[in-house]
Amino acid sequence: MSVLDELPVVVIGAGPVGLAAAAHLHERGLPFTVLEAGDSAGAAVRQWGHVRVFSPWRYDVDAAARRLLDVAGWIAPDPDALPTGAELAADYLQPLAELPAIKPHVRFGARVQAISRLGLDRLRTAGRESAPFLVRLADGDELLARAVIDASGTWGTPNVLGASGLPARGEQDAGAFLEHALPDVLGADRDRFAGRHTLVVGAGHSAANTLLSLAELAAAAPGTEVTWAIRSASPTRTYGGGDADALPARGALGTRLREHVDAGRIRLLTGFSVHALTPTGGRVAVVVRHADGAEESVLVDRIVAATGFRPDHSVAAELRLDLDPVLGATRALAPLIDPNEHSCGTVPPHGVDELSHPEVGYWAVGMKSYGRAPTFLMATGYEQVRSVVAALAGDWDAARDVQLELPETGVCNSDPADSVTGESCCGPAPAVAPAARGLATGVAGGPLSSPLSLVTLDAAPSGARVGCCGS
Ligand SMILES: Cc1cc2nc3c(=O)[nH]c(=O)nc-3n(C[C@H](O)[C@H](O)[C@H](O)COP(=O)(O)OP(=O)(O)OC[C@H]3O[C@@H](n4cnc5c(N)ncnc54)[C@H](O)[C@@H]3O)c2cc1C
Repeated sequence: MSVLDELPVVVIGAGPVGLAAAAHLHERGLPFTVLEAGDSAGAAVRQWGHVRVFSPWRYDVDAAARRLLDVAGWIAPDPDALPTGAELAADYLQPLAELPAIKPHVRFGARVQAISRLGLDRLRTAGRESAPFLVRLADGDELLARAVIDASGTWGTPNVLGASGLPARGEQDAGAFLEHALPDVLGADRDRFAGRHTLVVGAGHSAANTLLSLAELAAAAPGTEVTWAIRSASPTRTYGGGDADALPARGALGTRLREHVDAGRIRLLTGFSVHALTPTGGRVAVVVRHADGAEESVLVDRIVAATGFRPDHSVAAELRLDLDPVLGATRALAPLIDPNEHSCGTVPPHGVDELSHPEVGYWAVGMKSYGRAPTFLMATGYEQVRSVVAALAGDWDAARDVQLELPETGVCNSDPADSVTGESCCGPAPAVAPAARGLATGVAGGPLSSPLSLVTLDAAPSGARVGCCGS
């Protein structure tokens, strides 16, 4: 046994996937330490605790975690019930983190700031694979590790509002008007929205959730106004599959949203690409610029940015990562999850081979492993960590025997007959928008195959194209 083998595996994050990794590491008899920035298990999940997920419990509990919990006398929730984030944390993640097999190995308030190899920067090759990982925390403490499983998620790094992937003009100075995705509109954050006009930007699950809560608030609190802005020309994809959706909660969400829009309780703005934010008299003007150069603005009190999330790879900047240039996932995983082509139901089983980087012993798993793809499911992450931990234990047969039992495919626009061509956004646009059959899975815009209207530059002559097909 080498010195490296005696070191713990460091797991970053005590969310659903990080804790599942811990359960698998325990089962395999591998020493481990979980480092969690927050002060409790599921710290990110608790921040959206008021939201009910669309995957029933049967898809939300990892198998190794389940085995450990069962031995400890855990009373499993109804497998068909849909937990809120708060219930997921309180009824599953918390008891899991408190098991004697796990608890002594979890450190809360431990934010990982950087990961490297002891004594080696990214340039040095000689001796690299036998050097321990050096994990530095924000408080300056340092740990050595045999391997690092990075399950830190993407919740802390939301996407910007600006249409081009850069902050909109004035966005960085308009923080006082901006809300992170999924504010607790009917609970703790109610006062910020009651009697005020809110613009929700985004077309995914989190936008739909917030819009439904705002519509409910508007019915109770006079003067509450709700506007919804999406970049595409039609909300059809957000409305989803209704009764045809294999995850009924997801289908129902879209159906209710459509009813509010049709009834005028939610004002819908399509083809809306945020160009600038301008604070004006205690409110903020959100400016959109159309392809012909014409500008339009909406004056609101609050803006909810439900535009998705992106991974933060800066902690691993001294490691040798081979990232897909589009998604920021590994190159092997990216084509399997690309939201231009795939949705939740079409993601094939994958594990250690697809998640490996040139840096041997470092894996990003869970939500972070998908990079900017919004279609991650917990069940996928559980299979990822089962495979990675089996590989760490030297059980390559198990590591490569990857299996996924996801809800029936065909609910997330997975039917090729429904899809836009697999070509890039510069390829031929479909004559008719494809019939969507499921609300975008995950938290962001969902499948990205719908064409967007183009935007213009200030300096560009009217009508000049600067979108992806611009000259
Ligand atoms: C509103 C919402 C609804 C969702 N619904 C579903 C659903 O129905 N079904 C489904 O399968 N999936 C769903 N998802 C997607 C996904 O499964 C969840 O986001 C899940 O929580 C991802 O688990 P994770 O462990 O990868 O990341 P997270 O839950 O985000 O956990 C990451 C943890 O890492 C910690 N952390 C972050 N940075 C650091 C650092 N530098 N150092 C130390 N710790 C750090 C965070 O505090 C956090 O506790 C949903 C997501 C959202 C936001």
